[in-house]
Amino acid sequence: MKFNTKTIHGGQKVDPAFGAVMPPIYQTTTYAQSTPGSHKGYAYSRSKNPTRTALENAVASIENGNYGLAFGSGLAAIDAVIKLLKPGDEVISTNDLYGGSYRLFTAIFQELGIIFHFVDMGNASDIEKYVTENTKLIWVETPTNPMMRVIDIKTCAAISKKHNLLLAVDNTFATPYLQQPLDLGADIVMHSATKYLGGHSDVVLGVLVVKDKELANKLYFIQNASGAICGPQDSFLVLRGIKTLHIRMQRHCENGRAVAKYLSEHDKIENVYWPGFENHPNYEIAKTQMKDFGGMISFTTKGNNYEEAIKIVENLKIFTLAESLGGVESLAGHPASMTHASIPKEEREKTGVVDSLIRLSVGIEDVDDLIADLKQAIG
Ligand SMILES: *Cc1c(COP(=O)(O)O)cnc(C)c1O
Repeated sequence: MKFNTKTIHGGQKVDPAFGAVMPPIYQTTTYAQSTPGSHKGYAYSRSKNPTRTALENAVASIENGNYGLAFGSGLAAIDAVIKLLKPGDEVISTNDLYGGSYRLFTAIFQELGIIFHFVDMGNASDIEKYVTENTKLIWVETPTNPMMRVIDIKTCAAISKKHNLLLAVDNTFATPYLQQPLDLGADIVMHSATKYLGGHSDVVLGVLVVKDKELANKLYFIQNASGAICGPQDSFLVLRGIKTLHIRMQRHCENGRAVAKYLSEHDKIENVYWPGFENHPNYEIAKTQMKDFGGMISFTTKGNNYEEAIKIVENLKIFTLAESLGGVESLAGHPASMTHASIPKEEREKTGVVDSLIRLSVGIEDVDDLIADLKQAIG
């Protein structure tokens, strides 16, 4: 099955009860047993729920994995991955990281004795020097947020195989439409399905996908034991979102390309970060690793003025000033004061999150309206 068919049919079957084409929202906590321990595969909805199973099978299919696990949020999914580790274990992580992931790693798990090394993965072979006998996991986010750097997953996979580590990739920005990390050698793919997979800014949910059965069993144990699951209604909404992922992504990419080009030619704009530019430092990797370049763009203004950046995001009318990304509607954000506010100024500036940086999640509206909006807001 090809990707554009998998988004609609992958891992899905008609509901056996009445032939419903979409899986019903099984809004139930428990399931009748004929004799103790004898049931139809479902005993209690923290452990398993049929609507969640349908979603888990769908995400496994579109990521070319064998097992999917769905959680109450992207961070709950990441939390489950780090719970594979124990005190003293070390993680090598992308330095230009989603702010919430950074907070989870440093404020929760570092306190519990897990050691994180936040490193520049621009040249992926460099990360090998951080491997010690205690290293257990490489955590990669690509493209990175909000600087749109692209990390070479294949090289990371070669290092992780050589040293017998796990490689996890946060694939939220790219989606499996653009890149499939398991095919490139990753062990775990993670998504904030809140973003492109859900796609309509109406549900918070996270997923993991793996190929290996033993790893899936360990993660399933954590999912059930810690209990950070998603409900059936939310599972249904993400499942519905995935059905149109491929056509939404196609338009996100088209509009993203046009907006990036517009910004790069604007005389008030200093830098535009979008991996589709030939002068982007990771363009070659992006071109081979990704099918297209996505709808996420960041830019800075000349003079790097904080107040001017705030004024631009306030002036936008079609782009909504809001956290999050990946929905059908265009959003704009100011990382230094919003998504990355929890990262100390010194730390964030090291990775390029300066005062005038604005991040756009380019939606699927008519691109002429989006460009006209940017034009009036930037001036
Ligand atoms: C939003 C996001 C997360 C966290 O997901 P939630 O669903 O908000 O918990 C993790 N990684 C990336 C790249 C994100 O954009």
